[in-house]
Amino acid sequence: MKTLSNLVMMLTISVIVFGCAPVTKEQQMQKFITNHVRKIKPMAKETNIAWWDAALSGKSEDYDKVSKLTLQIRQVYSNPKEFAFLKDVKQTGSVKDALLARQLEVLYRAYLSNQIEPELLKEIVDLSTEIEKNFSTFRGTIEGKKVTDNEIKEILKTETDSAKRKLAWLAGKQVGAAVADDIIRLVKLRNKAARKLGFDNYHTMSLTTGEQSVEDLDRIFNELYELTNEPFAELKVDLDRVLAADCNVAVTELKPWHYHDPFFQETPMVYELDLDAYYKDKDLRELGASFYDGIGLDVESVLVNSDLYEREGKNPHAFSTDIDKEGDVRILCNLKNNETWMETLLHELGHAVYDKYKDPQAPYLLREPAHAFTTEAIAMFFGRLSRNPAWMQQMLKLSDEQRAEIEKVSGKYMQLKQLIFARWDLVMYNFEKQLYANPGQDLNSLWWQMVEKYQLVKKPQGRNKPDWAAKIHFTAAPCYYHNYMLGELFASQLHNHIVHNILKLESDENVSYVGQSKAGDFLTEKVFKAGNLYHWNEMIERATGEPLTPKYFVAQFVR
Ligand SMILES: [Zn+2]
Repeated sequence: MKTLSNLVMMLTISVIVFGCAPVTKEQQMQKFITNHVRKIKPMAKETNIAWWDAALSGKSEDYDKVSKLTLQIRQVYSNPKEFAFLKDVKQTGSVKDALLARQLEVLYRAYLSNQIEPELLKEIVDLSTEIEKNFSTFRGTIEGKKVTDNEIKEILKTETDSAKRKLAWLAGKQVGAAVADDIIRLVKLRNKAARKLGFDNYHTMSLTTGEQSVEDLDRIFNELYELTNEPFAELKVDLDRVLAADCNVAVTELKPWHYHDPFFQETPMVYELDLDAYYKDKDLRELGASFYDGIGLDVESVLVNSDLYEREGKNPHAFSTDIDKEGDVRILCNLKNNETWMETLLHELGHAVYDKYKDPQAPYLLREPAHAFTTEAIAMFFGRLSRNPAWMQQMLKLSDEQRAEIEKVSGKYMQLKQLIFARWDLVMYNFEKQLYANPGQDLNSLWWQMVEKYQLVKKPQGRNKPDWAAKIHFTAAPCYYHNYMLGELFASQLHNHIVHNILKLESDENVSYVGQSKAGDFLTEKVFKAGNLYHWNEMIERATGEPLTPKYFVAQFVR
């Protein structure tokens, strides 16, 4: 028998079930997002503040707090039930609303990358920590005497005796032999984790969770290879001539140790270019603030919350951080009056304006850059200005003679720097792809095949050592290196588009961007405000009319 109160209760229940509770997948999704953001937003803010505090204090208890909070966030994203829900909604394709679908996509990938089984994950983290520790404590030796990385680099920069250079180069590779077996073990563990989640290997999985695909990257990198082949070969002939003369050997006798760093990833300083003198008695903070202000991007509110100068215990590098996605953006620097720090300040403020000028109305989950490499591109776009002669002349009030002096070498230097890096990144991308595809193959030979093909550097006769393993990135930042190059490509694509279509100029010869608020407006509207509302390549196409392409990088740096 039903009493009245029973009936009322039943009615109430049916209202909850059929009236207010989410019934469609879209409603369920919206509810999931609301709950998720309510949980994650304060956690993310607390973690960012803890990280900022740790970077300033350098205290280990502060770093412990960061690890603890990071782990808590990770635990949210490793929840298998929630992942199953997201996977189900995604597979049914029932979320049609564009904003909702995009948030689903972002969440799905965030959860996916955290679905590795706890025991396997622990094994992976422990092993990679172990390898990183071995990296930081290992010292190579020259004739039995231990040397630091800095000493090796110094010899490669300055020594003219080929035999001594060779010993330094060999010392730099010794760490490879010490860690190679562990790295291969780590690669296999990562592959095991990826296969359990349905991927061919860890490389494919990393790209997928980063919303990239092997096909897209292969196409972009192959095009970059084709477009830079001849110009790189030409520049290198010139460079090799200088390097050979410096060490008094024939060009045909040049070996890997004749380049100025262990991997030939940096520009040998063979063309005199000392820009530090121009920044010696300048106020970098003031230069940065007034430049950004001039293009309509206010950074004063960022700078007041930032920490710009060296201090005991403070993180010695530089970064930008978005504390709350609600306008609290800060940068950390260790400014000194030289060109490198001018570049770094412009770079970090580039990251900062991207975060600061996001659309505050956009959903919380989409209030972030479209990709790690797109924010890197904005940072590079601005960072490049510190050695741009037109920018330097206007910002530093240089005479025409001083500018001409800079121009004599800066163009050539930039060209070399960018081409050398592009060819080095081709080695890293292609080697890493094949490393994960088949870690059991002859990696020592594979490495040198890549180096010979892309960097045009010959393997020393008979060399059969794990020289690849001396690069820490395979351990510490796996499957990420290609993003540096994508950042450079996008920076150039933006540069080309702004010069021709926004500023409507014939060439970029005198472009300094100083006072060009149209450039700032364009970036705000088309890049910053777009946040992560679209796949990165859609954002790039909406902004510049084309998907990401290497051709403008080549146009800018191959003259
Ligand atoms: Zn950066």
